[in-house]
Amino acid sequence: MAELVIEDLVVTFGTGRTAFNAVDRVSLTVPRGSVVGLVGESGSGKSTLARVVAGMQTASGGTVMLGGQDLLATRGRDRRKRATDVQMIFQDPFSSLNPRMTVGETLDEALATHGSASAKSRAASVRELLELVRLKSGVVDQYPAHMSGGMRQRVAIARCLAVRPRLIVADEITSALDASVQGAVLNLLRDLQRELELSVLFITHNLAVVRYIADRTAVMRRGAVVEEGESDTIVREPRHPYTQELVAAIPRIENAGTDRLLRTIGA
Ligand code: ADP
Ligand code: MG
Repeated sequence: MAELVIEDLVVTFGTGRTAFNAVDRVSLTVPRGSVVGLVGESGSGKSTLARVVAGMQTASGGTVMLGGQDLLATRGRDRRKRATDVQMIFQDPFSSLNPRMTVGETLDEALATHGSASAKSRAASVRELLELVRLKSGVVDQYPAHMSGGMRQRVAIARCLAVRPRLIVADEITSALDASVQGAVLNLLRDLQRELELSVLFITHNLAVVRYIADRTAVMRRGAVVEEGESDTIVREPRHPYTQELVAAIPRIENAGTDRLLRTIGA
């Protein structure tokens, strides 16, 4: 059973002679309870695709189905419901967390949005969420500015889980973190994914990372998917020349940081 089915998605930017397809007839499926990786260099259209799925960007063509419902056709109340059905986690949690809200307030707000009844039951849920993302209960009173990048990303993950989304779209969520912390956040997400059977579209420019976290991977280049398959096969036996280039670049990406990441995650 597929959670997300994208067919022939097109996103055109600009008009006339300057028009170009940032997303060019992409088809992609995320089976329920699995992680699908989307990999490609900067500018290949990954975030644009993610933004369409999250309802932040209009499409020029194609269909996006979530849990059997046509996302591009949803209106009004359905649109608000859809806002919780798809949760995005971004590269920089500092910009997606409200600096004036404590961790507790942030999670409480997300739970209230999801319709979680009393303040007392929400407080219990906040504690459970912090446990899920392996944060100490004491962080409820902390503000984002006083936390490390890795802690902030854990809070962003907890907030995302609070609304029980059908689909999580993670866009370069470890790219801004130190290599040692990247491994820990990836481990956490992979554990949670298995524990809670989450459906995840995991976007990164780093093939080593998708190999670790994603069951299947699609390789995107200039708006189009050039190769798709099991993540392990894609990395070990890349068929498309572009994928071969990406694989060859793995040890060089981000210099010393990646070498440590590769060791951390055993890639
Ligand atoms: P990626 O996430 O893979 O780095 P993006 O989806 O951010 O790629 O961008 C794909 C292409 O679309 C890039 O050439 C980018 O400059 C362009 N682009 C992204 N957003 C817009 C926009 N709102 N208007 C015009 N061009 C855009
Ligand atoms: Mg991007």
